[in-house]
Amino acid sequence: MLFFFGVWNTPLVRLNSITQSEGIKCEMLVKCEFANPGGSSKDRIAKLMIEEAERKGILKPGYTIIEPTSGNTGISLALNAAIKGYHCIIILPERMSKEKVDVMKALGAEIIRTPSGVAWDSPDSHINVANRLSREISNSVILNQYENPLNSIAHYETTAQEILDACNGRVDMVVAGVGTGGTIVGVSRKIKEQCPECIIVGVDPIGSIVAQPESLNVDRGSYKVEGIGHDFIPKSLERDAVDYWVKSSDKPSFIMARRLIREEGLLCGGSSGSAVCAAIEAARVLEPGQRCVVILPDGARNYMTKFLNDQWMISNGFLEDIVTPKSGVQKK
Ligand code: PMP
Repeated sequence: MLFFFGVWNTPLVRLNSITQSEGIKCEMLVKCEFANPGGSSKDRIAKLMIEEAERKGILKPGYTIIEPTSGNTGISLALNAAIKGYHCIIILPERMSKEKVDVMKALGAEIIRTPSGVAWDSPDSHINVANRLSREISNSVILNQYENPLNSIAHYETTAQEILDACNGRVDMVVAGVGTGGTIVGVSRKIKEQCPECIIVGVDPIGSIVAQPESLNVDRGSYKVEGIGHDFIPKSLERDAVDYWVKSSDKPSFIMARRLIREEGLLCGGSSGSAVCAAIEAARVLEPGQRCVVILPDGARNYMTKFLNDQWMISNGFLEDIVTPKSGVQKK
């Protein structure tokens, strides 16, 4: 069987309109991870974690893959499972989008929703429900993106290498939202080997506790952007890989994601908006001729009934009113 799934090389695209209107002097390039086959950066880690588990004999034909996730890892695992014939059970908190669930179901995965807002160490958290299921279901495996070293290795070997190749080995700043931390750790480790002065900026939503120094995390609570932030520090997140943290908030993140779509034609997700907002803040220290790379982890498909929808934006207080573009056509 020809199996091309795994040839990544996602586009690295220069921002024009947004950087110009925000007065950014350096070049700002965005890495379009939504162009991966499953729609996110998680395709990279899912393939590697599955292949390694198969090699080690932890994962065998007929086994069940179980994973707690904010959705994108679930989609990527379900995609691989569909091709390879594994059963897949994905556990994700209620607050994650219906669109992600529908894609996973279409790929044949079984979905279990856990309540949002429960502490990570509660028996009802997506992590502990997954642990319990794996004890109950024989011949099952959790590949465990929160602890699996292959999570950051996938980004070290592929995402970062692609960035270096596309930039002729010269990068001055990288900005990425932080969930498991796999992306930022892998990218930081590889890029710093070649560009030790490169500034690595982590983006953490207000409400989450992973940013440093701790004084940045005064506000705890819920937020709407999906895929970034936690109420615990995942093992996969080696925070020494990050030089500088920016806290993000929902409204500017969603407005920026909509601008990336409307002004740059980039069909990205909400955490991409958080990352670009943070990049605009952090990259003000860069000069003309310097280069900032921003990771756009997933795409608009996951949020069609959320931030892409005007009514959802208005009812959440993120948009004042529906802006109808002028068509110039007169109604009779
Ligand atoms: N944005 C989105 C939409 C995600 O799904 C994730 C993964 N949880 C991230 C950002 C963060 O990526 P990572 O887990 O590699 O830190």
